[in-house]
Amino acid sequence: MMEKWSNESDELRARFAAVEENYKQICDTIARAAQNSGRSPEEVTLLAATKTVPVEVINHAIHLGVRHIGENRVQELLEKYDGLDKENATLHFIGHLQTNKVRQLVGAVPRVKMIQSVDSAKLAAEISRLNQKYGANTDVLIEVNIGREENKSGIPPEALDELTDEIRRMKGLHVKGLMAIPPVCENKAELEKYFTQMHRLFIDIGQKTMDNVTMDYLSMGMSGDYELAVQCGSNMVRIGSALFGARIYR
Ligand SMILES: *Cc1c(COP(=O)(O)O)cnc(C)c1O
Repeated sequence: MMEKWSNESDELRARFAAVEENYKQICDTIARAAQNSGRSPEEVTLLAATKTVPVEVINHAIHLGVRHIGENRVQELLEKYDGLDKENATLHFIGHLQTNKVRQLVGAVPRVKMIQSVDSAKLAAEISRLNQKYGANTDVLIEVNIGREENKSGIPPEALDELTDEIRRMKGLHVKGLMAIPPVCENKAELEKYFTQMHRLFIDIGQKTMDNVTMDYLSMGMSGDYELAVQCGSNMVRIGSALFGARIYR
């Protein structure tokens, strides 16, 4: 029994050390990419994508300085919620969200500050309805399916203006930017094309002054491609495995 416990804490200590090392590297890479694109490192926000990661490990990342964390499943977020160090980090929802689950995230108990994956007026309307009922507010990003892939969340780029205009009229939410997960690409040039298209959309829509829209965040870039994403103008990267190690699905 003692043996098992000490092995477990050894494992946790090793994991904490790995996260610390990874975190430093990620911060360095972000800083370099920000500077390469004429920005200061502070202009880029690191969000830790925490699916499958145990609460102790997430809280260690927060202890190291991670200030934003994102879950992509409602059930998993609810399981971890009480144990998370919410005083020191902001919670985001980053996954596909069904309308009937919105009530777990906003409204009576506003568990997340931002929902990054809004891709329909119906979903936004439900966020709005619950928040109005309870006097709450949620920041939202509109998810763009920049590669126009079938079976992928997000709206096609050409639908962005209209959906933004529809959502911004809703009370209880605030449109704060755009989010995208580009297609898996054969080469860097192709990926760069998608990131650049997203940045263009972000700039274009930001230039239209609209009430209840502030294009603060362009959320794109994950473990395998965040350096390129930042070079192309991303100011929020969502990083999972590069920070926490390969995911272990139980
Ligand atoms: C898991 C996930 C990430 C992070 O993926 P990694 O490749 O592990 O960095 C980013 N965004 C979303 C929406 C995710 O679900």
